[in-house]
Amino acid sequence: MTEPIPMLDLKAQYATLRADIQAAIERVMESQNFILGPEVEALEREIAAYSHCRFGVGVSSGTDALLLALMTIGIRPGDEVITTAYSFFATAGSIVRLGARPVFVDIHPDTLNIHAQAIEARITPRTRAILPVHLCGQMADMETILAIAQRYNLYVIEDACQAIGADFHGQRAGSLGHLGCFSFFPSKNLGGAGDSGMIVCNDPHLADRAVLLRNHGHRPKYYNQAIGGNFRMDALQAAILRAKFPHLETWTAARGRNAALYAELFRQAGLAGEDGPITLPREAGWGRHIYHLYQIRAVRRDELMAFLKSRGIASEIYYPVPLHRQECFAGMGFEAECPQAERASRETLALPIYPELTPAQIERVVTSIQEFYRL
Ligand SMILES: *Cc1c(COP(=O)(O)O)cnc(C)c1O
Repeated sequence: MTEPIPMLDLKAQYATLRADIQAAIERVMESQNFILGPEVEALEREIAAYSHCRFGVGVSSGTDALLLALMTIGIRPGDEVITTAYSFFATAGSIVRLGARPVFVDIHPDTLNIHAQAIEARITPRTRAILPVHLCGQMADMETILAIAQRYNLYVIEDACQAIGADFHGQRAGSLGHLGCFSFFPSKNLGGAGDSGMIVCNDPHLADRAVLLRNHGHRPKYYNQAIGGNFRMDALQAAILRAKFPHLETWTAARGRNAALYAELFRQAGLAGEDGPITLPREAGWGRHIYHLYQIRAVRRDELMAFLKSRGIASEIYYPVPLHRQECFAGMGFEAECPQAERASRETLALPIYPELTPAQIERVVTSIQEFYRL
């Protein structure tokens, strides 16, 4: 029996980092300083610099980064926030949790990102912000989005939870909007040993507001200037992430190589041509794709997934239900026409792309897919 191929092999990664991570944990344990503090501040500086931003605000998760970012710009009940119909739930959930309305825009079929040209038609007097997601590790069309935001005086919050290190004409994810949000969930390109996230930005006033609201809005302690929450980052997460962060560029390069090898092998196999059964992920050409996910579109997607599983190859559907179709939003008036998002939810399949994946494993994935379509 051949070895199974998982979606992600965190044990393989840990094996190469064990000593550094153990030392990081030990450092925090010796300090007995567990919440915020010097480790979090150091990570904030490192991630902000990496993301071409002046400020980083370490938080408890990517979801909380989004919620806190929306709180920071003062999103309130009745406000409208324009976002994509095709993302992880937190993108829309964070808007609704503040009593605001998500206005869903369909995706561009090539990139699976928000169709920037379709945004303007959805702007109303209540629109306060645009929340694009850089899905799979490729940035949305920020040039168009920023131009619209400027014309209508809207905030832009980047959901960069899948896109740390991606860029748009050389400008890093998180640095183009007013606020950028990262997740360090274990499966993300830079993942911790639990939940955490970060907001990055260039505006000192927004950074200060985010810092205030991250810790209940009190300043000084027990004197509350605003109603915030507990969105604080753990020192243990920061220390572990700091041990992993120096390897991020190497991992990103490996993901890029894996994507290139997939494309080459799929084309050689005749699977990804004009009438081939699969469609490869497309790069828009405006910057680095960091391949958080390698999303293909596949004919008979669900059958293919089951076949791969029978061969010990993991794959995953991101996402089976577009946001405007989520049950919890039924009857809330968030209906939208998003046929491309619905099509994507039926056709896309994410294949393993993690850095430690070997060329032989990638070949096995492609060969198995070839075998499936020959059946
Ligand atoms: C992972 C993710 C989030 C949420 O991050 P958590 O750290 O899991 O809360 C939000 N948006 C997108 C697009 C994500 O991929």
